[in-house]
Amino acid sequence: MDTNITIALSGNPNAGKTTLFNHLTGARQHVGNYPGITVEQKEGCCLHRGQGLRVVDLPGTYSLTAYSVEELVARDFLVNEKPDVVVDVVDASNLERHLYLGCQFLELGVPLVIALNMIDVAENRGVTIDALTLSERLGVPVIPIVARTGRGVDQLLDAVLAVAATETRQQPAFLRYGSDVDEALSYMMPLIRECNELTALYPERWIGVKLLENDEQIVQKAAVSHPAAAVKLKERCETVTDHLQNTIGVYPEAVIADHRYGYIKSILHQGVVTRKFVADRLYASDKIDKVVTHRFLGPLIMAGVLFALYTFTFSYSKVLVEWLSSFFALINIGVDSLLPDGPLKSLISSGIIAGVGGVLGFVPIIMFMFFGIAVLEDSGYLARVAFMMDRIFHFFGLHGSSVMPFIVSGGIAGGCAVPGVMATRTLRSPKERLATLLTVPFMNCGAKLPVLTLLIGTFFSDHQARYMFLATLAAWFVALCAAKFLRMTVLRGASTPFVMELPPYRFPTLKGLAIHTWERTWQYIKKAGTVILGISILLWAMMTYPGLTHDRAAYFEQQRQQAQQAAVTASEAKELLNKTLQQIKAEEAMEGLRNSLGGRIGIACERVSQYAGIDWRTNIALLGGIAAKEVIISTLGTAYSLGDVNRNNTASLSERLAKDPGWNPVVALAVLVFIMFYAPCFITVICIAKEAGSWKWGAFSMIFNTLFAYSMAVMIYQIGALLYLR
Ligand code: GDP
Ligand code: MG
Repeated sequence: MDTNITIALSGNPNAGKTTLFNHLTGARQHVGNYPGITVEQKEGCCLHRGQGLRVVDLPGTYSLTAYSVEELVARDFLVNEKPDVVVDVVDASNLERHLYLGCQFLELGVPLVIALNMIDVAENRGVTIDALTLSERLGVPVIPIVARTGRGVDQLLDAVLAVAATETRQQPAFLRYGSDVDEALSYMMPLIRECNELTALYPERWIGVKLLENDEQIVQKAAVSHPAAAVKLKERCETVTDHLQNTIGVYPEAVIADHRYGYIKSILHQGVVTRKFVADRLYASDKIDKVVTHRFLGPLIMAGVLFALYTFTFSYSKVLVEWLSSFFALINIGVDSLLPDGPLKSLISSGIIAGVGGVLGFVPIIMFMFFGIAVLEDSGYLARVAFMMDRIFHFFGLHGSSVMPFIVSGGIAGGCAVPGVMATRTLRSPKERLATLLTVPFMNCGAKLPVLTLLIGTFFSDHQARYMFLATLAAWFVALCAAKFLRMTVLRGASTPFVMELPPYRFPTLKGLAIHTWERTWQYIKKAGTVILGISILLWAMMTYPGLTHDRAAYFEQQRQQAQQAAVTASEAKELLNKTLQQIKAEEAMEGLRNSLGGRIGIACERVSQYAGIDWRTNIALLGGIAAKEVIISTLGTAYSLGDVNRNNTASLSERLAKDPGWNPVVALAVLVFIMFYAPCFITVICIAKEAGSWKWGAFSMIFNTLFAYSMAVMIYQIGALLYLR
């Protein structure tokens, strides 16, 4: 197909871009990421009147100022790739707000067609929009459509082709921003003309507006392009800012925004929009919002909905998770019976199958969670949750939308940080998003719970429920404080104001939900799959090599033979022999582990960990816990079944720990706290690195969390030892 015409779909979030995109391109689409960042890039193609069209779905934005990654991505695409036509998808039932972005396209002077979407919703509300008059006033085609059903899409594409065929370039719209700003702009024009690199890309007046809005990217580009002019421009911007601050107490961006809205209002209010009903009629959405964002009822409903999502994610996916894990267990049994004992078998079963199983094991959870989130998002409820939680989270330097990742990661009890990290995608500001995804691993995920239960059950059995509840509270407290700390240090920066509007409630479509769910799940498989397999093999090697020395291996072999002979002569019961053989095998495995690289690290770490009362055996378990927290219990089990002189196999791990002289309630509490807060498991680390766009953040989370957990554990142990262990 000849696809030499590129059209970019843009618009506010929830305007219906993706619906239109899916309608246009169907299955002929491709989802990728913009280079280096996690903003999705969707592309597809379609055919109209024999003309191939390349369609790009830009991220949803409210403006074109570089306040968020999405906005920067959308803008850079428009400027660098110069699409032949920009289709601005606006929600006809919410026209005034949505035209704010359209207005900025006009200022930027891009070839524009406005798709007046959701005209059905507007009609249902008794709102009529005179598209023709609107089009005349704005100077660009305005085509009413219903993206869901495809109504009007042909006319839209006709208009697109017509715009693509015109030779004359769209002139940037000339808006007035009030005397102060206008005066500053005319002063700035000659200076802006000096910055050739900028004027080659953007209209002059637009550059001036961005400088006044303090747009980082443009300010920087100006400084590079013409340092001397940039200094003068900056001075002038500061003068206007000061002046506006002193006179009316607002920043230039607010003045500019007000004038844009004024421009839109003036266009709309002269007969473009007519309402059949009285203006103050409560629409269904507003009625629902009266209840749903009510001061007391709102949080209750929210708690219910979040709890439902949580239950849905973790209990319904359980069957699939179990099914997958038994499937992998089955493969393992197959491998076990087919291959002879040795490094190859160990590599396949502990390295590869465990790794692939680890990746795929999360798929059902992620799929269910994204489905649940897609329902909340598409229906419009998620925006309400964010709206209600924003005040509290704002205090900690986060955003209302951070609540979802926290809950999914285990904020209620038992969850998983992997989908939690991925759920941070609903956050728009990069710093708030980073702060959220770095702190969600502090929550008590489902894999930490058994360890907590074991330790609490063993050492604090009198107050089990209370301690579990305390552990949940502590996790929230630590996560929020850590977020605050990060936002005050490495992630310092202003919080984004709550610009998210409350979109009207809508019934999500199954097709939309399915596409949303699948593309995110697939991205996880693709992203995490390869890396996890590699690291899993690496960890396996660390726990296996160099293994036993020749002498020791021979020694164990000898032990085995002796046991067998003894069994023959003493005609001991077969059961007892098996037990002895198992014991020898476990002992051999333990010695191998101790001698492996991982084991040696565990032993070396004892020098540091002793201040927290943690011995080398626990260290190995904690090290294994970085592979997956589930490993902690099994490794502890192995480690503590071996030091036992009595070889009393029947004692449970809990009893063993209770009897072990190295353990007591103080140690248990220190270990407990350490496990709650130390380095996330490596699948989470990989997801953090991928989502944050840099391995630096993955490493940061491992080091930061471990140091924090360590200092907490040392503090608990030292104080506890002083008070109780004399
Ligand atoms: P995006 O954020 O701009 O990609 O918006 P989506 O395409 O995800 O659409 C948001 C919601 O609006 C979805 O629930 C759609 O089903 C719904 N929607 C999109 N277009 C229309 C339309 O023309 N009419 C109606 N009634 N709903 C629509
Ligand atoms: Mg979308």
